[in-house]
Amino acid sequence: MVRVRRETVVGILLTSLPLLVAAAVASSVFPGSGERLVTLFMINVIAVLGIGMYAGNSGIVSFGHVGFMAIGAYASGLLTINPIVQKTALPHLPEWLAGIDMSFLPALAVALVVVALVAVLIGIPVARLAGSSASIATLGFLVIVHVVLVASTDITRGSQTFFGIPRAVNLWVALPFAIAAIAVARLYRDSSAGLKLRASREDEIASTAVGVNVKLHRFIGWVLGAILAGAAGALLAHFLGAFSPKDFYFNLTFVLLAMLILGGVTTVSGAVGGTAVIMLIVELLRKLEGGVDLGFVTLPTVFGLTDIGIGVAILVVMYRLQDGLFGVRELDERLGWLKRLAAKPAVSSDGAQKIAPIPAGGTLKVENLGKKFAGLVALENANFEIKPGLVTGLIGPNGAGKSTLINSVSGVVPPSSGRVLIDGRDIASLPVYAVPVAGLARTFQNIRLFKNLTVLENVTVAASALKGNGEDPMESARLVLAEVGLDGFADQLAGTLSYGAQRRLEIARALALKPRYLLLDEPAAGMNPAETQELMHVLDRIRTKYRLGLLVVEHDLKLIMRLCDIVVVLNKGQQIAIGTPAEIQANPAVIEAYIGRRRSAGQAKREAVEAGGLQPSASGLQNPA
Ligand code: ADP
Ligand code: MG
Repeated sequence: MVRVRRETVVGILLTSLPLLVAAAVASSVFPGSGERLVTLFMINVIAVLGIGMYAGNSGIVSFGHVGFMAIGAYASGLLTINPIVQKTALPHLPEWLAGIDMSFLPALAVALVVVALVAVLIGIPVARLAGSSASIATLGFLVIVHVVLVASTDITRGSQTFFGIPRAVNLWVALPFAIAAIAVARLYRDSSAGLKLRASREDEIASTAVGVNVKLHRFIGWVLGAILAGAAGALLAHFLGAFSPKDFYFNLTFVLLAMLILGGVTTVSGAVGGTAVIMLIVELLRKLEGGVDLGFVTLPTVFGLTDIGIGVAILVVMYRLQDGLFGVRELDERLGWLKRLAAKPAVSSDGAQKIAPIPAGGTLKVENLGKKFAGLVALENANFEIKPGLVTGLIGPNGAGKSTLINSVSGVVPPSSGRVLIDGRDIASLPVYAVPVAGLARTFQNIRLFKNLTVLENVTVAASALKGNGEDPMESARLVLAEVGLDGFADQLAGTLSYGAQRRLEIARALALKPRYLLLDEPAAGMNPAETQELMHVLDRIRTKYRLGLLVVEHDLKLIMRLCDIVVVLNKGQQIAIGTPAEIQANPAVIEAYIGRRRSAGQAKREAVEAGGLQPSASGLQNPA
């Protein structure tokens, strides 16, 4: 069952309010031209929300959604066109399309089915792409739709005006559609699917590492957004009564993207606000464009003033506010008092005790694991096991292959050779996003948080990867935050946390996957001694409480020797030793590797001093003894 939060409902109501006010003001104060303008505003809001659903949540700019508007407009137009007009305007219409004469709402429903089918077809390749390649693909789609419309003269009248469509849409028809679009967009944004897509926008690799199937969620966002855009197109067709392919091309794309970007691409409030601001600018400039007589001075006609105005508005806003007028958070999320009113009381801090312990048993087995990068052997023949309840330390100088090992084990970088078995099951058989759910979570050496999501959302993304355990992901996330002492920061954006807190948040996010094995790549890097101490307490607690199998990469050898049950040593991609801390400290190969390094560093320093030159930096590792 889909749970709708009170915060979401409050957000929908708050965002719909300006539309209701605009409708009321327009109909009572400016009937006629004002009403038309506000109707257009409603339709634009739906279109911008449609683009935003995909583009805002995925971070991939889409030029293609106006193509879906065109499909919605032409499809619903063809189904509703007056039969008498149709005979003269479209004499060569194929028989199966002729004389259908539906009313608006059923025609809209059919048009949306058509749009959805096209969106599914196009979405399959587009969802596999990221970044600018995806954007270019959407642009290709827009061009194809345009060319097909112009070429299909028998059906669309080609580049000529398509007319005779009943004007079934006015302010009071557009208003409920716009409010419904706001509700759909906001429900999606706040849903687990929307949150996952937003996480992939922030960091695709990290989102995969917490169980997000990025392609699937891009696909969902694409199709849902296309349907909204298609609805906007159909409404526009039935508002105007006549249009041609050029009305659904670059100009409209530019204006709608301007609305989205100006308001802030990631929020529903931004889409509504940006649409309003751009429409006001356009209205104002359009009046000036034709030249104005102000009594004392006459302004001349300026061609293209409207487009220049939109461009300048975007430049100014982007220069001052990178994330648009409304930023990365919804309006209601910024109003503290409103949020407190809407939110349920937080869980008590003893809630941390209620997390169900994770069933223990099994092992994570690394067998002959190796990784080559274009000829460079970064890792070769790594062999060891991680056991529940034990801490395995992974040490070795910089470049030894420690991060490569973690990347290969977690599937982020597919290994060149060898196997990784979780309780006997080869993880190569799983897609990367399924590995965390299979019990293996990890953190990254260079922190990879979803910076523009809140601390709570960061952890909720991971918690919602676990399906069907009956728990509310957000509640589970709160419990995990309490576990690492971050419960007081739940509503802060992750990017605003202190460095040490960010490291702890990454661990919390991994823990929310309820893993049996947790791989931590330099979790204490950059922490001060007090923060490191605190982190070690946390690690020790979770390992005993949940019988986690931990693998920790750490440079502080004193710390490793104290914390670990088993230590694996890598050097130049080779596993040179494995054993208890005591064994490792006495291992001749390890001493050789470390003292060898120290000697060579010392030698290099002497040589440099003799040469009267530079002071080389010392080796990153201390003597284990
Ligand atoms: P460590 O984490 O022990 O410091 P890494 O695993 O990061 O070491 O690196 C091991 C070796 O692999 C280094 O020589 C590094 O330059 C190389 N390497 C790591 N990642 C890549 C990559 N994506 N492409 C090419 N070489 C890489
Ligand atoms: Mg590393």
